[in-house]
Amino acid sequence: MIAHLYSPTECPACKRENATGHLCPGCRPEMLSVYGRCSICFSVLAQRNCSFCQNRNVLFDRHISTFGLNSECKRVLQAWKFENERRAYLWSLPYLKERLHTLLKEADIIRRPGYLIYIESGGSSRDTRNYQPVADLSRHLETPALPACGMLKKVRTRKQSGAGRKDRFFQLKGSIQLTVKYRPAFYYVILEDVFTTGATASEASRILKKQSGAQVLVLSLFMAE
Ligand SMILES: [Zn+2]
Ligand SMILES: [Zn+2]
Repeated sequence: MIAHLYSPTECPACKRENATGHLCPGCRPEMLSVYGRCSICFSVLAQRNCSFCQNRNVLFDRHISTFGLNSECKRVLQAWKFENERRAYLWSLPYLKERLHTLLKEADIIRRPGYLIYIESGGSSRDTRNYQPVADLSRHLETPALPACGMLKKVRTRKQSGAGRKDRFFQLKGSIQLTVKYRPAFYYVILEDVFTTGATASEASRILKKQSGAQVLVLSLFMAE
């Protein structure tokens, strides 16, 4: 592991050596288009009504994502979260900053105080890495008007290996808790690495709204569609 720190940097997707450790131009994905998507969950709209929102309890006010989860992005995610490549996300910062700006501009709350929330990992993930990927990311995106804060944490729940996808969605209740860092605000932006079913974002939103009634927005780096 120590030797790895001194090795030349490489593209997190194709593993070719380069000077920055960022994605090389050939691996860099296109940003997702913001057009033709649901104004709440950001899913592509096939019809006038959003099937994603109709089939779920969507409790956040608005989600915006940055990139689809193509094979390069999957490799970045794997390296970043499970292979100790702590800097694997750095190439994405300008794109994420742009998306955050779009989100705040739309919500018309730029001048009101809010918080950028990362969800602290639960106990089990501390065995696999000694850093919190989304907490790292939040520190690059925070501003004086939108400080980063670990107001929520994942809590260990009983083993759910036998549960199907749908069951897991309902079992999320109780899997996230407020931390002592909770502060009231006009709005919150929950930062996520991957948005898939929206279940984590909805549960986090439910907890925040119960506590504060604030507007809850969600910004994700990748979206699995
Ligand atoms: Zn590459
Ligand atoms: Zn929707």
